[in-house]
Amino acid sequence: MGQANILNKDEVLKKVFIKHKAKNHINVNFEIINNSQNKLFKLPIISMKNMSGPVVLLIGANHGDETEGFISLFKLIKNLKLEDIKGHLIIIPALNLPALNNGNRVSLFDKIDMNRSFYKNNNNSLTFKISNFLKESIIPNVEIILDIHSGGRNRKFLEMAKYYQYENKSLMKKSKEIAMAFGAPIYLKHYEKNPHGMLDVLAVKSKKIYVSAELGGGGLASKKSISIADNGINNVLKFLKIIKYDLKYISKIKKKKSKLMYFNDLNKNFIFSKTDGIFEINVNIDSKITKDDLIGTIHFPDKPKKEPKRIISKLSGVVIGITNKSFVKKGDLLVLIGVIKGKNYD
Ligand SMILES: [Zn+2]
Repeated sequence: MGQANILNKDEVLKKVFIKHKAKNHINVNFEIINNSQNKLFKLPIISMKNMSGPVVLLIGANHGDETEGFISLFKLIKNLKLEDIKGHLIIIPALNLPALNNGNRVSLFDKIDMNRSFYKNNNNSLTFKISNFLKESIIPNVEIILDIHSGGRNRKFLEMAKYYQYENKSLMKKSKEIAMAFGAPIYLKHYEKNPHGMLDVLAVKSKKIYVSAELGGGGLASKKSISIADNGINNVLKFLKIIKYDLKYISKIKKKKSKLMYFNDLNKNFIFSKTDGIFEINVNIDSKITKDDLIGTIHFPDKPKKEPKRIISKLSGVVIGITNKSFVKKGDLLVLIGVIKGKNYD
């Protein structure tokens, strides 16, 4: 299972939460104890502080097969000069580095989904050790979190930034403004269908301004998705007045107004498969869908006599996410539908 210990926590926190102007490259050292053979795993964090300004945490590869955020943040680390910022950036380009190194959503050390591990626990496996470190030692001391996801190998999303529901209206307004400033084709007021252990839930509960992004996916970080990630990070840093000028190393895309979308009935917006089978998709991403349209058909290859299962849309909207695989299992997300106007949640 890979039980883990952090070896240098105090030293790491001192270098992350810098008091004066500095750019620190830090490794959190985890000792993994496996069958009495100890291994060292290093998780890179980069902390940059210059003058006073917001404390912002930027996260990539929360899931290891979502490389878009990692690529953009890695370039940011290499290119951003301390003199160019006003504020404090804490950058974790690959939160789930062991998973990223294997191209998997989850780490092979323990197969635990990082983004389902942010709850109160005493688990010592590596994924929980990383998420507990973030939860207990980093998040309490930051103001704003930008967590960059994508569809990974199994899904594709229309590039979007997401903001969240808060009891505190001013936090919600900030989350919404940052999501809009990101400048993806859409920004979405997000609700989790299965929220247990997710970072967004923890961040909202901890009263942190949290924004996430879903940028493409399908196993390849496309030129378009990377460009939206580069520009999104640039736009957010500018909006927060952390940088004054556009980042020089990115290819700027003309800023179009991001379109606001909602969910209006989670059971109808999220279409999950209720069975295993071969999915014949009948919709395209970023296309309109009307109530009663055929979303797709699931075929049962070992039961030729069985009627294929037709999946019908129960609402009208836009297809903003699709599965990236034909072989689907019970519980897989098949299609995600966004709508222009929220019904029940606004
Ligand atoms: Zn993700």
